Amino acid sequence: MFGKIFSRNYSCSDTLEHLQSYLDGETDSKTARKVAAHLADCPNCTDELSLYQQIKVSLRAPKVEVDPQVLQALNDFGRRVAQSDAQS
Ligand SMILES: [Zn+2]
Repeated sequence: MFGKIFSRNYSCSDTLEHLQSYLDGETDSKTARKVAAHLADCPNCTDELSLYQQIKVSLRAPKVEVDPQVLQALNDFGRRVAQSDAQS
């Protein structure tokens, strides 16, 4: 869906693949630009980014555990993206 409209940028699955290292600052600048460009266009991946950020914050706070529902939402989203990419 979004992948077709914004085909010059990363697809959702490309973005999700790099999202973790993007947040960690481990992507090269070219990849970081593509991820950022996709995030600017894609509300779904922006949601995903905030989920990752919640998880990172949770992991850094010793007393707070990652909400299982957040992890579930991440897994579900990844699966939906993979399916929609496979069908297109
Ligand atoms: Zn996306």
